[in-house]
Amino acid sequence: MSAAPPAESTEVAVVGCGVVGATTAAELARRGADVTVFEAGDVASGASGRAAGVCYDAFAGKLDAEIAEAALAAFRERDAITDCPYVWLAREGDDRNAEAMDEHVPRMRKRGRDVEFIDPANLDARWPELRTDDVERAAIAHDAGYVDTGNYTRETAQFAIAAGADVREETPARIDAPACIDADARVNGDAFDAVVVAAGAHTPRLVAAAGLPIPVKAYRVQAFLSEETPLSAAVPMCYDATGGYYLRPRDGRLFVGDGTVPEAKDPTDWDRRADAWFVDDCAGYLEQAVGQSVPEFRSWAGLCTATPDGHPLVGKRAPGIYVATGFQGHGFMRGPAIGERLAEAVLGESPPPQFDPRRFAPDEDFDIVEGMSLEE
Ligand SMILES: Cc1cc2nc3c(=O)[nH]c(=O)nc-3n(C[C@H](O)[C@H](O)[C@H](O)COP(=O)(O)OP(=O)(O)OC[C@H]3O[C@@H](n4cnc5c(N)ncnc54)[C@H](O)[C@@H]3O)c2cc1C
Repeated sequence: MSAAPPAESTEVAVVGCGVVGATTAAELARRGADVTVFEAGDVASGASGRAAGVCYDAFAGKLDAEIAEAALAAFRERDAITDCPYVWLAREGDDRNAEAMDEHVPRMRKRGRDVEFIDPANLDARWPELRTDDVERAAIAHDAGYVDTGNYTRETAQFAIAAGADVREETPARIDAPACIDADARVNGDAFDAVVVAAGAHTPRLVAAAGLPIPVKAYRVQAFLSEETPLSAAVPMCYDATGGYYLRPRDGRLFVGDGTVPEAKDPTDWDRRADAWFVDDCAGYLEQAVGQSVPEFRSWAGLCTATPDGHPLVGKRAPGIYVATGFQGHGFMRGPAIGERLAEAVLGESPPPQFDPRRFAPDEDFDIVEGMSLEE
């Protein structure tokens, strides 16, 4: 990466050092901005350190596909991604998801995505350990892989530091929005030309306290990691739309995810442990996916963020105040591209990605819809 000449010494505060904040900070700093990062805990202590790290570019929407493609390129440039195909399944009797695949796979292909339907017999031949006897429809996204999300985020924070950013861990931020258009935004009393709030599930709370509400709700999703098993080397990444879970190999174990609980949670008061029902369900998921359950090694929960239309809020919320949140469980795989575009927008180098945070009424109410779906 060659650094662009500093356009200006804009002073920017970045609140939150997950994948989005770390990337934004690194991209701002290497463009010459004077960057201070406020992180309430440790780098990657939020959702970015708890994620599955499943990444792919198979989206039917133009902007989603572009962002995912740019993010995959960024992961590859850093040699951070392990290529692994992503298989989507709808099982017998699940006409809704089979039809969703019939609709979306051709649209993704039209976008140039490397996605194709695959006959269950061919799936079985390629991955005999996957249970395919009751698969009605299957598709495979070839441009996909997985990333160690905690390591990637910490490494990105190190790039930000190397480019000159001041990354302050264990430093919770409080934001004051400017009372008039010419005043500076403030973080913990200090003035900045711009403040980027990339505090994940805490973003709505922090900007609401500054008088700038946004319609974003936090909800729990859950993860299960099995004991070590040879199956880890014998399966691709897999989303079972019928069962409502996904699976990926991870360090000789199987990572099983979803367990979405679509209830709004207070990000300062939620249960970080997985629910007993989810851990029990994982035995059934694994029976269905690979014909046997594998004991639990550990499990956990994390917070994702939902918006009224399922698309994130990224961009200017008020003069000098930018937000990036509402990624519906897809924030890690977009993080590198979102951070770069946001940095450019803050420095006025390009318009923000078309996820305008002001597109809804600030108090708009909505139901949380789970992010993993074949129906977009
Ligand atoms: C179990 C699980 C599996 C997932 N799997 C995937 C996946 O496979 N692929 C994918 O793309 N996405 C996945 N996600 C979603 C992904 O993790 C998130 O969308 C993404 O990490 C969001 O990054 P972020 O930087 O916006 O937020 P976060 O990583 O949550 O970072 C926000 C940071 O802000 C800090 N903060 C909060 N309040 C303050 C404050 N007052 N002052 C300063 N700092 C503050 C927090 O400590 C935190 O470090 C998963 C999430 C979970 C929980």
